[in-house]
Amino acid sequence: MSAAEPVPTIGLEVHMHLKTRTKMFCGCKVEYDVRPNSNVCPVCLGMPGVLPVMNGKALELAVRMALALGCTLPGLAKWDRKHYYYPDLPKNYQISEYDQPLGVKGCLDIETSQGPRRIGIIRVHLEEDAGKLMHAEGGGNYSVVDLNRTGTPLLEIVSEPDVHGAEEARVYAETLRQLAVYLGVGDCNMQLGQMRCEPNISLCIGADAQGKPRYTPISEIKNLNSFRSVERAVTFEIARHREEYEADPAGYTLEKQGKSTRGWRDDEGVSFLQRSKEEAHDYRYFPEPDLVPFVPDRQWVEEIRRTIPDLPEIRRRRLINDAGLSEYDAGVLTADRLIADYHEALAEYVRDAKMAANWMMQDVMQILNERKIAISEFPLTPQAFGDLVNLVASAVINRNTAREVVLPRMLATGKSAGEIVKEEGLAQTSDESAIEAIVDQVLATNAKIAEDYKGGKKAAFGRLMGESMKASSGKANPQVVKAILARKLGG
Ligand SMILES: [Zn+2]
Repeated sequence: MSAAEPVPTIGLEVHMHLKTRTKMFCGCKVEYDVRPNSNVCPVCLGMPGVLPVMNGKALELAVRMALALGCTLPGLAKWDRKHYYYPDLPKNYQISEYDQPLGVKGCLDIETSQGPRRIGIIRVHLEEDAGKLMHAEGGGNYSVVDLNRTGTPLLEIVSEPDVHGAEEARVYAETLRQLAVYLGVGDCNMQLGQMRCEPNISLCIGADAQGKPRYTPISEIKNLNSFRSVERAVTFEIARHREEYEADPAGYTLEKQGKSTRGWRDDEGVSFLQRSKEEAHDYRYFPEPDLVPFVPDRQWVEEIRRTIPDLPEIRRRRLINDAGLSEYDAGVLTADRLIADYHEALAEYVRDAKMAANWMMQDVMQILNERKIAISEFPLTPQAFGDLVNLVASAVINRNTAREVVLPRMLATGKSAGEIVKEEGLAQTSDESAIEAIVDQVLATNAKIAEDYKGGKKAAFGRLMGESMKASSGKANPQVVKAILARKLGG
């Protein structure tokens, strides 16, 4: 047996709620802040004699995500019943897709501190969520169930075991979330349970006599609901597997234990055994007789493909490589799809992505932060804001006047940048003789500062600049002021 360093081998199952108005197989609303058991009906309560009807929007969103992950849609997709008894699932089976999932063989590119990685996607399939059990706290020996969540459209995304560390697992989950939010597929609010991660962890511990890799028995951590807990739980499990194996590498046999399902106690930072993991046959899968297998229409799929926006990573690379933005700025401007859209529209309008980025980073983002609003609530369209940017680019007003005077008035009054500049006489002057007169005046009244500059105090130049701008009521073209000042002081 080889004593090679064990290699963590991790696959992730991620469940996310799809952003639909209603449930997967009935017309009940999907809501998160309503009275328990208020959004239920005979279908999602599992009453006898009812028939499920598939939610078309859920299918559309699932197709969208599958396409964005580069999955192939095999054509026929089929519903199956997955049987288990649990009080939060009244019909005693979950409708899922077993052997013919919606999408297969995709991938997701992620960016870790160790560089870029590509994680394979085995499958993407649709199913329905179960309800929520709440156990009495403080000694009460009862539990209550809220079935509002029962039947919520759920997308399961299963990765290849391509993840090799805790950070990678976290970044994979974060990137998947960002993608789903970007595409409008789901809100993925983890506190609300809209996204849950289940890493399957084992260590590759060398190879057997035939050269076949050997692994420690897989443990699956259930229902992790924060990125932090994904990273911590995977770190914990890797160490646990390692410890168990290294305690007796020679006598270590995989038969000692089968696959296991474990829970995670976030407050203590430990995982604990829940049950030995079920095999597929334990669920007695069989085709759902109440729903026909279906083939997503090719043309419809292509229409969905056309509506998929450029993904964040592609936009980010474009900003770095084509527009010369820093990694940081490009990251900020593409993390949120609406911000990326705004920047793109602004860049197109002012015909300069870098200039647009500077205004976004220095002005728009600051206003969003100060007012605690989303870009969708920003009162100026990219075109209205672009008019302001263009006034600066064409030297009608200077940056400072734009920022300190015109922009706040645009926000307050809804007037256009051009109107405000005209009404308030803010247009700057580039008239050299007028500016020269102002500069002469400033040098005369600030002779001491001018002497300081000539004596080597470089900072004095800035003060003279400031005085000249002030003397012109902020309207002198700063470039012209600078050139005249430099000429006069240098000469
Ligand atoms: Zn219902």
